[in-house]
Amino acid sequence: MRHVTAVSSLILAAAVAGGCSDPYGDPLVIVDGGDDDDATGDDDTTPAPDDDTTPVDDDTSPPVKGVNGVVLLVIDTLRGDRVGCGDRPGMMPTVEAMLAGGACFQRAKSNAPWTTPSTAAILGGVHGQTHGMIDQAEDSLDPAVDIAPDVYAPLGFLTAQASANHAAVQAGIVERFQYDYNNRFDGLEINDVLVDQYLVDHVMDFLDERVPSAETKFFLHVQMYAPHFPFCPQDPKTETQYEVEGETLDFCRLNDGTVIGDHVQAGNEELLEAALALYDQEVERTDEQFAALVQLFEDRGLMDTTLFAFTADHGEAFNEHGHWGHSAGLTFDQIDVPLGIWGPGVPAGVVVTQPVSTVDIVPTLLDYSEVQVPSDMEGASLRWLVEDPSGDHVTRAYSLLGTSTGGMHYGITTNRPDGTAWTLLQMPFVSALFHTEADPQEMQDLYGDAGHSAIQAELQLMLDEPVLNYGEWLDRYGQGP
Ligand SMILES: [Zn+2]
Repeated sequence: MRHVTAVSSLILAAAVAGGCSDPYGDPLVIVDGGDDDDATGDDDTTPAPDDDTTPVDDDTSPPVKGVNGVVLLVIDTLRGDRVGCGDRPGMMPTVEAMLAGGACFQRAKSNAPWTTPSTAAILGGVHGQTHGMIDQAEDSLDPAVDIAPDVYAPLGFLTAQASANHAAVQAGIVERFQYDYNNRFDGLEINDVLVDQYLVDHVMDFLDERVPSAETKFFLHVQMYAPHFPFCPQDPKTETQYEVEGETLDFCRLNDGTVIGDHVQAGNEELLEAALALYDQEVERTDEQFAALVQLFEDRGLMDTTLFAFTADHGEAFNEHGHWGHSAGLTFDQIDVPLGIWGPGVPAGVVVTQPVSTVDIVPTLLDYSEVQVPSDMEGASLRWLVEDPSGDHVTRAYSLLGTSTGGMHYGITTNRPDGTAWTLLQMPFVSALFHTEADPQEMQDLYGDAGHSAIQAELQLMLDEPVLNYGEWLDRYGQGP
């Protein structure tokens, strides 16, 4: 069945002009490039949910009010296990309260473990193999790939980006938005909590300047930064400096990150404990900034007409698999991210356990805002899972990492109708197979184990073949071995 309805509006975006900039990141208005001719979202096919999906009765869902605002909120470097969802505990009470009012996903995987390719995958609804930002040295979004603002703008939505991380802006991404409310955090690198406070102010500016009423249609991408290193939670009572082998290392100093990581990887437990505590404090501060952000929408009477998605671009490793930071591998610590959606039409209290990907987020937002999902988006709307979360649906999440030496990491997580989930990682010199459901921290490598040869072979086939959009993937692998 299909949930995508006819495009509700084809009003062209209002003409946009003027504006100014300053070096501290006050809004820079980009005149709309008008490159809309291939972005009308008028394809009549959608990455298809499987045909046996059974939606819940209509009377259990809230009445659908129109979606006018769409907010994609990405927290840089926020691990999935820090955000409660269903029976998974968390440490972000404000976020979790909002997720409880909608749908959350317990097994969400980022397509990439670092900002730029992950952002392209999220915004474009496509995998790294398609958006082309794989190599860390040559990052450029494929001009042929439409991302969310390209789809929304021709339908009358204002499109704006407010990111505290420049890596989510570069490489041709910001030029796709009509309005630039990004932080350029020159001189503010060590104060990432403050950076997020500025970002909330920029979102307030966007709403005050561009969203005069709940009737205004807009798509806003917000990217907060605090959980990213430096781990500097701006609490004067918190110690951030440590003496190690005669050297003073400071978690508030960006350039000390690599050295701290070297010591953690060498087994320095004191630094590891400090890193975890400081990271978690920054996560708690992020929850406070999230509350301030949501309050902006409440104060303006926008909550009933605004659809929200909450996620992260990747996680952060604390030596679980010998890594520090991110962009070093595809294990759970770097790839598992929180994901939730709430707003008009999204039922409350839904917990989805099937694996899903960050490439599925924008198709889901488009679906709930009654905009047709372009057929070349490889992600799938998750609306059918939200409406039937207990079904025995089979899903998938691909991940990808290119390295500076040219070696590639490929990953896939999928589930079986019996509820088990599996992850296969193929790295330059070694592969690993994990029973994702029974072993979420991926401690027991089952690759080569005779008892798991069938599932290993099936996942290997998925990695050996080109990545598929969800409908094609489902046709090929949906029934399992
Ligand atoms: Zn990032």
